[in-house]
Amino acid sequence: MYKFAQRVQKIKPSPTLAIDSKAKKMIADGIDVVSFGAGEPDFDTPDHIKEGAIKALKAGKTKYTPVGGIPELKNAIIAKLKRDNNLTYTQDEILVSSGGKHALYNIAQAMFEAGDEVIIPSPYWVSYPDQVLLNDATPVIVPTYEKDGFCLNPEVLEKAITPKTKALVLNSPSNPTGGAYPRAALEAIAKVLVKHQILCISDEIYEKIVYDGYQFTSIASLNDEIKKLTITVNGASKVYSMTGWRMGYAAGPKDIIQAMTKIQGQVTTNINSATQWACVEALNGPQDFLNTWVGEFKKRRDFIVEAFNKIPGVTCFKPQGAFYVFPNISSYFGKKFGGTEVNNSDDLSNYLLDKALVAVVAGSGFGAEGFIRLSYATSMEKIQKGLERIEKALKALS
Ligand SMILES: *Cc1c(COP(=O)(O)O)cnc(C)c1O
Repeated sequence: MYKFAQRVQKIKPSPTLAIDSKAKKMIADGIDVVSFGAGEPDFDTPDHIKEGAIKALKAGKTKYTPVGGIPELKNAIIAKLKRDNNLTYTQDEILVSSGGKHALYNIAQAMFEAGDEVIIPSPYWVSYPDQVLLNDATPVIVPTYEKDGFCLNPEVLEKAITPKTKALVLNSPSNPTGGAYPRAALEAIAKVLVKHQILCISDEIYEKIVYDGYQFTSIASLNDEIKKLTITVNGASKVYSMTGWRMGYAAGPKDIIQAMTKIQGQVTTNINSATQWACVEALNGPQDFLNTWVGEFKKRRDFIVEAFNKIPGVTCFKPQGAFYVFPNISSYFGKKFGGTEVNNSDDLSNYLLDKALVAVVAGSGFGAEGFIRLSYATSMEKIQKGLERIEKALKALS
């Protein structure tokens, strides 16, 4: 009989994808589930972007491309980083991968090995620790708190650093909390990283989905010293509603990007050619539809945060970015409904799905017991219906 590689045992299936597929299956079976599980915008990819792919396909652009991406797309990314982030990069400092997730994995493959520690603030995006584990390194989870807007305290960061520390993974605005770092907080973190010469992996995928006048800053743009240590990761999934197309990219020091490109060249080669041409249109084309999307997200955020804070025993942080809320529901632990006892966030999300037909993701998967994550990338009507159900189900616990 065959024996599996040990790395398979080290990781778990993505809990966000798991709840989403369970909810989708219930919906397909005719059950009226309201799902807050989705990690993707509910808007369609804008037409002019789709046209970019159609045009490319009709023009026969269906062959292998350079591993790191077509020059036109790299130029569009370089122009974007200059325009939005005040960052200057050249073609050999950019790698286009199959989504931000793949870009992050290429970094992990190129930079992490046994004996390395990688600092990950919690609550974290589910894939960070598992990507570290898949590359034999050790995730070091450092908690952040609601009262600090879920931002990492620089002193806490410094205390977590050991001679083995290789990198810090930063995600602002954050999935799952929606917390976003003010510029001054990034400056304080950059100072610690530069002092100890630690890499910064900056996941900026929600950069444009921000509220209340929040001004986004790329940590790499703060100064040359931190830029030399930073790999900025971004992509088309969230900002252009292109999750199925699979385009993400990394920008960083040339030698790191070269190593990542070498790895990608032996694993996936280039990403889908039509996707690359669509993304040229996405990045170079009009960006104004985003205002409408963000306006829509903001209305939903305001409603859902207020609704949660009105439920007795629930506190809900008001996110400055992304499209998730992360309410604290820990006061319901220890309560019961019939034979069901709720002792942790997994119990609570199972209870909500089975008894209230509402799909949410347990905080445990994000390294934050006591919370649940809801995506508000769904219609206002569904949000209202779902929140009524949640309120009723929580009141039924005693
Ligand atoms: C969605 C997401 C990504 C990347 O998604 P891709 O579809 O792979 O580009 C990366 N980081 C976070 C925090 C995300 O939520």
